[in-house]
Formats: sequence, C-alpha cells, structure tokens
Amino acid sequence: MHYSDFGLSNTKKLLTRALNGGYAVPAFNFYNMETLIAILRAAEITQSPVILQVSESALTYMGDEILMGLIRGAKYKRGQIALHLDHGHSFEICKHAVDLGFSSVMFDGSALSLSDNIKISKRVAEYAHKFDVSVETELGVLAGIEDENTKSDTQNYTDPALVKDFVKQTSTDSLAVAIGTSHGAYKRKSENEKLRFDILKQIATNIPKTPLVLHGASSIPQKFVKNINKFGGDIKNARGIAPAQLRKAIQLHITKINVDSDSRMAFTSAVRETLAHEKTAIDPRKYLTKAMDAITANCIDEIQNIMGSGYKI
Ligand SMILES: [Zn+2]
Repeated sequence: MHYSDFGLSNTKKLLTRALNGGYAVPAFNFYNMETLIAILRAAEITQSPVILQVSESALTYMGDEILMGLIRGAKYKRGQIALHLDHGHSFEICKHAVDLGFSSVMFDGSALSLSDNIKISKRVAEYAHKFDVSVETELGVLAGIEDENTKSDTQNYTDPALVKDFVKQTSTDSLAVAIGTSHGAYKRKSENEKLRFDILKQIATNIPKTPLVLHGASSIPQKFVKNINKFGGDIKNARGIAPAQLRKAIQLHITKINVDSDSRMAFTSAVRETLAHEKTAIDPRKYLTKAMDAITANCIDEIQNIMGSGYKI
C-alpha cells in the first residue's frame, strides 16, 4: 500500500512549510485506538498538522493489520496528518513501514559508526524516495530510555561540522539532532539546565534548508507527576524540557518536536485518578474516556503553547 491510499500527507511538505513559517509540527506517539483518537481530536480542534508516530515496539504491540486498519478507519482531513516510523533500527524495518503505507520513516543509525550510519541512511532514503516517502536520520546520540530498542547511557552532541556532508551523502529529508534533550520522563537534574543553543545555531547555519528534529522533548507537566503520585504512583523527580526552551529551539529551525512521555503521563494520571474515585468501576471505557480526554487536552496545550502549529493546515 502507499501512504496516499490512506489520505496521509507527505511529511517533508509539512516540515518544509513549518520551517518557512517558523513553527514546529508536533509528532505525537500513539500505540492504541485511544491514543490515536485523542491526538486526532486535538489536531481537529486546533486545525494543526500532526505527525502520528509509531515506534518499532508500538508496531509490534498493535500488529501491522490492526495499525493500518486504525489509520484507514480514523477520521482526519487530507493534507493534515502524516504517519511516521519512529526510531527504525534497520533498513528492513524502514522498508517494511514504507511498504505498509507510512508517509515517513526514521532510520536511527546514531549508535553506529559514522560511515555505517551514512551507508544505511542512504540506502533507506534511496528506497523510500522511490515512493515519495520522507526520511529522518540522526547524528549524535540522545541519552535516556525510549523503549527497549532505543536507550543510551551517554549523550553525544551532534557535531555541527559533520551535518552538511551527512545530509548531502544520505539525501535525508530531515535530521534529528542531539542538543541536550533525552528520552523518558527523567530528562533534567534541575529546572535550570539549558539546551545547547550554540550547537543548534551552528547546525541551522550549516544546513539552513533542512528541517531539524528534536527527540526527547516532552515537557513533563508537573501536574501529571503530582497527580500520579497522589493516586498511588511513585515517579519522583520526573522532569522535562521547559516550554520556553522548546519555543526558542523552534526559532533555530527545529520543525518537528517529538512528544511521547507527556501523553503517557496524561493517560496514566487520568486512569489512576478515575479508578481511585470510582471504586466500583469495572468498565474500561469509563477510565479510557478520561484518559483520551486528558491526552487531547495536553496535545491542544502543547500545540498552542509550544508548537505554534494551530491553524496551519
Ligand atoms: Zn526519539
């Protein structure tokens, strides 16, 4: 199948428009019907373009048929929604996603040597571009844990001196950069830790036409942390990237911001609170509805207060 069969958008077009318009397209991860519907509702309400992201583990969790069935059945406007593979770790998984009908794929070769990263990124781009599918690659390593396939103890910032050659050799459509964000809910030791805007500025200067991507960019709203802990959870010291830092990054060519942890926190917070209040509830729809509402509200908040992508379709 091809992404156009599902009415999906070309990711590069969404990102190029964002780069020229000075805003970011939100890339929200989903892993079931509830998270998908919640994100689409937020996009509809804010009239924002959205990239729906599926990680390798989310693809395994849902299975190919269920995932693409959900996409086929979802209600969204054409020209607004892209479907993206987040952190593909091999040529084969990227090819698989292209063949399923994704409109873009990320090949994450950040753990490889530079020459292997270039080699496989290029191979992925050559295959994907045959079908007008866009490619995101990564230079530099993000610390933290996204899932069992994507984790690192170390943080290596992207070297601005390498980006121009990397983009040229791989023909990548967008580039994920490491400037101090990390995966997971525990991103910062303190509120004051800053992203490396000096590095970002040099990267943007060296590849001014390439949309840049920020992973590990959840802001981890403290209201969710407090609520989860209040209703039986234990996730002390969870901390994200301050919205002001993200807005500044957008001014320096960050045009795709990945948000996963925030939706997980919104979901968990709503489920814990609902179950604590409604002791006799056994119908999952009761607490899943609250979870969907919480994700939609959070996505709307981030679109309006961080991304600036509302009314950009
Ligand atoms: Zn990531």
